[in-house]
Amino acid sequence: MNLLRPTLLTLACLLASPSMADDLPSLGDASSSIVSPEQEHQLGRAWLSILRGEVDQLSDPQLKDYVESSVYALAETSQLQDRRLEFILLNSSQINAFAAPGGIVGVNGGLFLYAQTEAEYAAVLAHELAHVSQRHFARGVEAQQRMQIPLMAAMLAGIVAAAAGAGDAGIAAIASSQAAAIQEQRRFSRQNEQEADRIGLLNLEKAGYDPRAMPSMFERLMRQYRYDAKPPEFLLTHPVTESRIADTRNRAEQQKPGGKEDSLRYQLMRARVQLFYEETPGIAAKRFRAMLDENPKLDAARYGLALAKIKAGQLNEAREALQALLEKAPDEIAYNLAQVDLDITANRLPDAQKRSDRLLAMYPNNYPLKQMRTDLLIKQGQPQQAEKNLNELLQSRPHDPDVWYQVAEVRGLAGNTIGLHQARAEYFALVGDYDQAIEQLDFAKRRANNNFPLASRIDARQKELLDEQRAIKGMLR
Ligand SMILES: [Zn+2]
Repeated sequence: MNLLRPTLLTLACLLASPSMADDLPSLGDASSSIVSPEQEHQLGRAWLSILRGEVDQLSDPQLKDYVESSVYALAETSQLQDRRLEFILLNSSQINAFAAPGGIVGVNGGLFLYAQTEAEYAAVLAHELAHVSQRHFARGVEAQQRMQIPLMAAMLAGIVAAAAGAGDAGIAAIASSQAAAIQEQRRFSRQNEQEADRIGLLNLEKAGYDPRAMPSMFERLMRQYRYDAKPPEFLLTHPVTESRIADTRNRAEQQKPGGKEDSLRYQLMRARVQLFYEETPGIAAKRFRAMLDENPKLDAARYGLALAKIKAGQLNEAREALQALLEKAPDEIAYNLAQVDLDITANRLPDAQKRSDRLLAMYPNNYPLKQMRTDLLIKQGQPQQAEKNLNELLQSRPHDPDVWYQVAEVRGLAGNTIGLHQARAEYFALVGDYDQAIEQLDFAKRRANNNFPLASRIDARQKELLDEQRAIKGMLR
């Protein structure tokens, strides 16, 4: 995988492009120049597109929405200065999460499986955000609190390697080319972990959570993997030791008690993830049923059961479970979306439509609801309407490849061929496939040749993508 061998000099070329060079003191020896926050942002975005092209992702709108809003909430009380974040949800049942310079936040589906409460989930992310806010990746250079290009490139390459499941081989590949930078990183790593725990813990409390969730999460992970020869990636980079647990436990006890431990919303999202990673919906249904038998008040288990039944095509049982939930909480978005899903599956489109009207009137800016409306419009054979809907969605999610993918689809259905190619270009660029992106704009230009303003807009966008591609290619050489 050539991803793992970034060339740092060419990385510097990306960073030295004229529009970004203003705040650079002097590039000098490019490989040692310091990355400004704006460059860090650009670099992070470029790497994110590469990562997206490499790893399998979860594109569940509810899960995405939950991760985004929960992390933004944590960022708000954190010491993070640049709070422009971009997210990636990795389709892996292993526990992992990372926050990288440039505002990239990655969460594995597995984090939901391991973190039993929202506070535990937040503890992991607060720790990760602290690594970024404390600029740990730049600590190799004493006096400077700024990221250096080789360090950042090596670090991001490491993230791609770990995320793509390359494991030790991937890390070794980086280490050989980036030995110095990596060694520097290791030297500071234990100290960095301690600091991330400490700062993360404070943030956890500020964000309204019970700080004791952090030591509990660590304790459980340690118990679980104590005798495991091959612990998950997260534990390799975050060794959980007795002293670390004792230290966080001590600090947590000193903070004020009474913070939030959990939320129904978190448990609902957790049920979605549990269902996703279960072998069959039948097995999932059995598991949720067993949880309910033990505690009939467990709404998240009932919700999981309903979803599993929809997936298994047992619609009556699904309806029964959902009815109980909706009676209790008629406005809960997750329950209503499940009911819409059920109605669409049962081909009761007018019912689905009625429910979606009511919900969108209540929560007009909710991403999962808008997404559901789009899906419904497609089912109803109204691609033009669906396209209008998606264009609106793009206002709030301009860098979401899932949205662009569907925009291309509905523009195709609506007969908007130029728009289809433009949307495909955006999609391909966001997942790091610039050749395809640029080719799609060639197709679009050819079709737009008698519409001068449009053709020149497409041309301008193509030039931008070519520039981006050149810069990214440089990073990978
Ligand atoms: Zn850490």
